[in-house]
Amino acid sequence: MKKIGHLLALLAVVLCLSASAAWARPTVVIDAGHGGHDRGGVPGDRYAEKIYALDVSRRLEGRLRSMGYRTVMTRRGDYFVPLNDRCSIANSQRNAIFVSVHFNSAPREGANGVETYYYSRRSGSLASAVHRQVVRAAGTEDRRVRSRGFYVLRNTRIPAILVECGFLTNRSEGRRIAGSAAHRQRLADAIALGIRSRY
Ligand SMILES: [Zn+2]
Repeated sequence: MKKIGHLLALLAVVLCLSASAAWARPTVVIDAGHGGHDRGGVPGDRYAEKIYALDVSRRLEGRLRSMGYRTVMTRRGDYFVPLNDRCSIANSQRNAIFVSVHFNSAPREGANGVETYYYSRRSGSLASAVHRQVVRAAGTEDRRVRSRGFYVLRNTRIPAILVECGFLTNRSEGRRIAGSAAHRQRLADAIALGIRSRY
């Protein structure tokens, strides 16, 4: 009888721990870069960054929801949302993290690869975790995790990162990003995996 009592007590502890783990899972604020008149990238780009940032963001939303996360999108369509509004959306969430999705551009066509940014020190581990997965999934150059004071990283009061998922200005990388929905899904899945490894 005593043994059963111990087992029940143990079971209760396990249930409580798993319940609190589920409770602690943060809301993920997904920020698709640019939108509307702001195409992103550099003028004359063949591929508009705003389109692919939104596409990967939507895929990320779907993936995270299927994993049980609550998500909030800073934009859902091709319209412009000022940066301070994006930060306000993020800062109004309790127990949340902020993930901004972008694609890169460069005047040098050869530039390629993935880079991930963070600003506050407490965002560094999330940046590393997501970066590792995205580099692996993209199969491209590792341009490292960098600390940089981008507006949305500086003005969010929650852990915040910005992922540049590849260069649209690179011939082969750009073609893969724009031409392959499977590739964009892999990028979204990788960001989700990185988030889950940390939260
Ligand atoms: Zn961008």
